[in-house]
Amino acid sequence: MHADVVIVGGSVIGSSVAWHLRHDGFTGRILVVERDRTYARASASLAMGGIRQQFCTPVTVRMVQYSVEIWKDFDRRFTVGGHAPKAWFRQRGYLFLADAKTAAPLMRRFEAEQRAGAEVQLLSRDDVRALVPDLMLDDIVFGVFGPADGYASPREVLGGFQRGAAALAVEYLEDEVIGVDVDGGDVRGVRLASGGTIATTTVVNAAGAWSGRVAALAGLRVPVEPMRQVLFRAALPHRWPHRFPMVIDPGGVHWRHDDPIGPGDPDRIIVAFTKWDEPVGDDVRPADERWAAEFLPALVRRLPAFRELTAVAGWGGLYEMTPDHNPVLGEHPSLRGFVFASGFSGHGLMMAPATGKIVSELIRTGTSSTFDISIFAPDRFDRGALIHDAATI
Ligand SMILES: Cc1cc2nc3c(=O)[nH]c(=O)nc-3n(C[C@H](O)[C@H](O)[C@H](O)COP(=O)(O)OP(=O)(O)OC[C@H]3O[C@@H](n4cnc5c(N)ncnc54)[C@H](O)[C@@H]3O)c2cc1C
Repeated sequence: MHADVVIVGGSVIGSSVAWHLRHDGFTGRILVVERDRTYARASASLAMGGIRQQFCTPVTVRMVQYSVEIWKDFDRRFTVGGHAPKAWFRQRGYLFLADAKTAAPLMRRFEAEQRAGAEVQLLSRDDVRALVPDLMLDDIVFGVFGPADGYASPREVLGGFQRGAAALAVEYLEDEVIGVDVDGGDVRGVRLASGGTIATTTVVNAAGAWSGRVAALAGLRVPVEPMRQVLFRAALPHRWPHRFPMVIDPGGVHWRHDDPIGPGDPDRIIVAFTKWDEPVGDDVRPADERWAAEFLPALVRRLPAFRELTAVAGWGGLYEMTPDHNPVLGEHPSLRGFVFASGFSGHGLMMAPATGKIVSELIRTGTSSTFDISIFAPDRFDRGALIHDAATI
């Protein structure tokens, strides 16, 4: 078998790359190799769906801004054969709250975000109260709000990109890449668990939390490691009178609305509380004990009516962590034809459209012209050229 481009991983990043390639006029054969077409463990299926441009690195801000233009129009643009996805980008903003302890770093971050070109506003306590009336604000000094931010439904995003790519004659193969053939400094093909091989000179590593492993198949050491992130969904005690933006408490707990779709659906929230000392590993088990011990007390402290949340259900998924929590993008300098689109460290869904554009340009023209991605180079860890962005939480 031969393909002009082989994409390893057919989830949100792999499918966005494939779609962008076609959309931008690439006519060669594109084969997406995905080992599990139910996407049960893919991070995109398990994500929170948050989309924010509140970063301190100009290229990151621009990547999200580019993506937001696609998110705004996603459901229409990715309608295939009369089927429209319901990604439903709700531009309700991201609200970071500062208390006395976090005020100075959050103010510095706000200023850096403004310099980086992000659309971001400083809110007084009264402004915060007007935006989310039921919060306890006794300890809050100010808020930082991104009005263009919001959230979308991750599975619908994944389905939209995938069906969109398939409709443009991108081929999906259910198989696992277990080897990468290399000749000198060039990619020659991939080997499959089923026993087959695909000859190609271009491989895109879009394997999410497993990208470090796929890189190792090609003899490359690029530190992308899986780290569990746990979420809970819970039903509000009644239909809430307003819709929440993404609200980020100074202590770390954060939540967004999970709106009813049908008339009988409950009004719910999705909640996260990142545990930064979570061990590295391929572990997607839920952590139910954390709800009563950590999540609920932090939520009730900020919004007392959350005491009456019901129907709590938790799950786990994998972040694809790099040492500086920033993506790995571009061809590896020591292996021609091996292109990274990975390492998003928990921010990949929001950047999927821009990532697709970047990789499409790299493959078609040899250079990324819309975005300068040089800081994301796959060998930056070997060179000690890590990125410092205070907002990559
Ligand atoms: C709980 C949680 C919350 C998150 N919240 C957000 C959020 O609010 N906003 C945001 O932007 N991001 C969020 N993320 C991160 C986001 O989900 C990821 O950054 C994004 O999904 C990465 O997409 P991907 O396509 O690279 O990876 P994935 O969706 O993980 O897909 C990788 C695919 O590669 C396949 N694969 C792996 N190895 C092989 C192989 N050898 N051969 C064939 N196929 C292979 C896998 O089966 C999988 O389908 C969250 C993640 C989690 C887990």
